[in-house]
Amino acid sequence: MIGIVGGGLAGLAAAYRLRNAGRDVRVFEAGAEPGGLAATYETAGDRIEAYYHHLSKSEETIVELADELGIGDRIEWRVGENAYYVDGVAHPLDTPWEIAAYPYLSVYDKFRLAMLTLGIDVRGGRPRRDTYDDIETFEDVPIKQFLLEHATRGVYEYFFEPLLDAKFGERKKEVSAAWLLGRIKFRGERDLLRGEILGYVDGGFATFTDALVDTVGQEHIQTGTAVTDLSGPDGGQRSEGGAVGGPVESLTVEPANGRSSAVETHDVDAVVVATMPDVLESLTGYRCEIDFQGSICALVTMDEPLLDTYWLNLADEAPFGALIEHTNFVPPERYGGEHLLYVASYVQGPDDALWARDDDEIETMWLDGIESLFPEFDRGAVTDVRIARNAKTAPVYERGYLDMVVPYDLADAGHPGVYYAGMASRAQYPERSLNGAVEAGYAAAARILDR
Ligand SMILES: Cc1cc2nc3c(=O)[nH]c(=O)nc-3n(C[C@H](O)[C@H](O)[C@H](O)COP(=O)(O)OP(=O)(O)OC[C@H]3O[C@@H](n4cnc5c(N)ncnc54)[C@H](O)[C@@H]3O)c2cc1C
Repeated sequence: MIGIVGGGLAGLAAAYRLRNAGRDVRVFEAGAEPGGLAATYETAGDRIEAYYHHLSKSEETIVELADELGIGDRIEWRVGENAYYVDGVAHPLDTPWEIAAYPYLSVYDKFRLAMLTLGIDVRGGRPRRDTYDDIETFEDVPIKQFLLEHATRGVYEYFFEPLLDAKFGERKKEVSAAWLLGRIKFRGERDLLRGEILGYVDGGFATFTDALVDTVGQEHIQTGTAVTDLSGPDGGQRSEGGAVGGPVESLTVEPANGRSSAVETHDVDAVVVATMPDVLESLTGYRCEIDFQGSICALVTMDEPLLDTYWLNLADEAPFGALIEHTNFVPPERYGGEHLLYVASYVQGPDDALWARDDDEIETMWLDGIESLFPEFDRGAVTDVRIARNAKTAPVYERGYLDMVVPYDLADAGHPGVYYAGMASRAQYPERSLNGAVEAGYAAAARILDR
């Protein structure tokens, strides 16, 4: 049997590939449901993700998987409208005339930003299309330096810097230009007259997870169960100090609710760890140097809409990083007429002051913040606020990141039989995504099948 640690998209995708190849698998998921970071809430209609999610046009593997699962026709592509809140006004930035009317960049800044977005290097007045083909060449270049050289100071200060502040805070200086270029490429396709095209699944990503779970087989997925140990041939406890040399032979699981009396041990031929790298470290001793940031995300249910856009970035001071009105992307009729707004913020670590606040404090602070940005906001229209938080939700794509990526096959690192498909894997570079999770799961499965 192949044991899979973690029932997020990566673990489920690995299980799917291995089952298709006729292998016996068992997914162990610590949470009550599979889905991981793509877990969902109930609404008056379709389910909705606890953290905002959409697909980009450049992501093909997950679309192919949807086709294989028989739900390809349920992926919908829509315009996801964007706006930028500056000096008390939300400026839409979707159509060419909206961009032309945006007052905070000069015509030349807009030209340089447009060229960069199209992947055209116009430095020296001689357009080149190949400069950004290999984003890895920008791995060691800080974003500010890159934008000052490849765009303009205005593009950096008035467009990207507020976004970097919201996402990385002080750590923006550590993030590589490769990440930024990856983001630009990854976000992909625009309808020139209407804006960016984004994907969503009819019924939410729960449709996707459910189809994957059904195909893998419920009986192969054990929820509420945390993997706590991997052991080698001598019964050595891998979690206590790293490699024991021989191939992994068994894994130990415990109920995630802490009733440790029900500890079980399962014999395994191989193990795929499809979790954050700290779990890999606790199971094998393999240390990954990548640093992660966390997220706090409130889903606010309202009787009426707040914004005119899907995604609102903020240049002005606000107690959150972005406002994302999901029902300006997917119609509220899908949710029994409820209007659904995400209020989101990244947290840079356990010392972040926001992390220390409890959910009630965050709710009050964030609703106050919305009120000060939008004086017409009616708090009486809010019928529910649900807050999700997780201390590790995205890698910080620092300079030199690729040297820290965890290999899919850990045999050469002294852990034969252990494979990795979590967020610190190569497929989740230069930005983590559901598509990247599927690709990571596939890559780990392929290495097992190759051996
Ligand atoms: C705020 C936010 C917004 C996002 N927006 C998008 C978006 O718009 N588009 C997009 O494509 N992606 C988006 N993502 C990223 C996407 O959610 C992730 O890339 C993807 O879900 C990662 O899947 P995974 O399986 O690698 O990890 P996870 O989903 O983290 O799954 C890991 C699983 O392992 C389980 N686990 C941990 N330890 C153990 C253990 N010891 N034993 C058993 N189980 C264990 C966990 O409970 C979890 O379910 C977003 C993420 C966040 C947080």
